Amino acid sequence: MTSGPKNIAILGSTGSIGRSTLDVVRACCDRLRIVGITGHANLELLSRQAQEFQPAVTVVSDPQKAATFQLDGCPETTVLSGQAGICELVTREDVDLVVSAIVGSAGLRGTWAAIEAGKTIALANKETLVTAGPLVMQLASDYGVDILPVDSEHSAIFQAMKSGRGKEVSRVVLTASGGPFRNHSAERLEYVTIEDALAHPTWDMGPKITVDSATMMNKALEIIEARWLFGLSIDKIDVVVHPQSIVHSMVEYCDGSILAQMSPPDMKLPIQYAMSYPERWEGPAEKIDLTQAFHCEFHPPDYERFPALLLGREVAERGGSCGAVLNAANESAVAGFLDGRLKFTEIVAACRDILNHHDYDPNPNLEQLIALDQWAREEILRWKP
Ligand code: NAD
Ligand code: MG
Repeated sequence: MTSGPKNIAILGSTGSIGRSTLDVVRACCDRLRIVGITGHANLELLSRQAQEFQPAVTVVSDPQKAATFQLDGCPETTVLSGQAGICELVTREDVDLVVSAIVGSAGLRGTWAAIEAGKTIALANKETLVTAGPLVMQLASDYGVDILPVDSEHSAIFQAMKSGRGKEVSRVVLTASGGPFRNHSAERLEYVTIEDALAHPTWDMGPKITVDSATMMNKALEIIEARWLFGLSIDKIDVVVHPQSIVHSMVEYCDGSILAQMSPPDMKLPIQYAMSYPERWEGPAEKIDLTQAFHCEFHPPDYERFPALLLGREVAERGGSCGAVLNAANESAVAGFLDGRLKFTEIVAACRDILNHHDYDPNPNLEQLIALDQWAREEILRWKP
């Protein structure tokens, strides 16, 4: 690693996590420097980010949009395009840490290239681990690379794990806000609209993960993420509903002690911790105000109204090709819901069907997983209730 500020590349700088990462960089500008940013659709914002941070590289990942992209006011910035541009950015000698914040399995290639280049990964893109967890973790181990979680639950677990030894952990408990439909009856869930699903009670996030939170597929994906990131068997992973989103997750040790990490729901904290690790820095994240009364509730999840959770447990247990199929089916079904083609409850029903009839492979390689990802997306387009 170079001395002086850490050199950061952000994959997906125009998204919710990308923008919060830049807030942290602004607040910690003596410790962090932006070397590269990437964006896919909102190129006006990408230009403004480039003008502010003057990175060495700006990547327009949509090759069609790149053809007409003009970047003014950045004389030292090289503009690259497509996946090749992302790979060129993450393999640069001067990049120390890559924030993987593209949404969906579209983030897998860039994250993979960054690991192969030996870069520390701050991983927001959970779909990478859901799709190819065992291969990605093996690759990181082969290259001696740290994968530091940005997902708030996994960051909490990562922090609480520092209180004991791995073999002393009896289970991890992922907290879930429960989303906007936590108290909806099964019948009411049938009539959920796009606007309802996009209004999350505690977190301000991109549209895909916001819908995932409403179906609780987000928690399913996080069960799978925890399975691979921490090498835990499924019987050691639990979920509890905690609507206030203050306790971000917990680790229970064999003596019964539970260690929890608490902070207001603000992604700047886990993003910053992944970039400052192993240090802690003062930063821009909001702090809990203990002079005001507040309460924290915990409820068991309802697996009947939110069957996505069962899918998550099953896929984490079976592994192999299941993660790639579930993830891609869900991405495509969420897109179908947001286009008005699928009803809210059909998102999880369609994922269940496609998972059930896919050709299970216990040990797929990366190319097979990418092919399965494509297959599952097409199956969703053909799916009928
Ligand atoms: P978002 O939709 O706000 O942003 C997505 C980013 O990915 C944008 O920069 C977009 O330009 C880029 N992108 C989209 N499609 C792309 C493609 N095909 N190729 C390359 N780039 C593409 O999403 P977000 O909420 O910031 O989430 C990003 C990731 O972080 C997701 O994996 C999500 O699950 C995870 N995450 C987000 C939050 C949160 O609070 N937003 C919390 C935990 C984890
Ligand atoms: Mg999360």
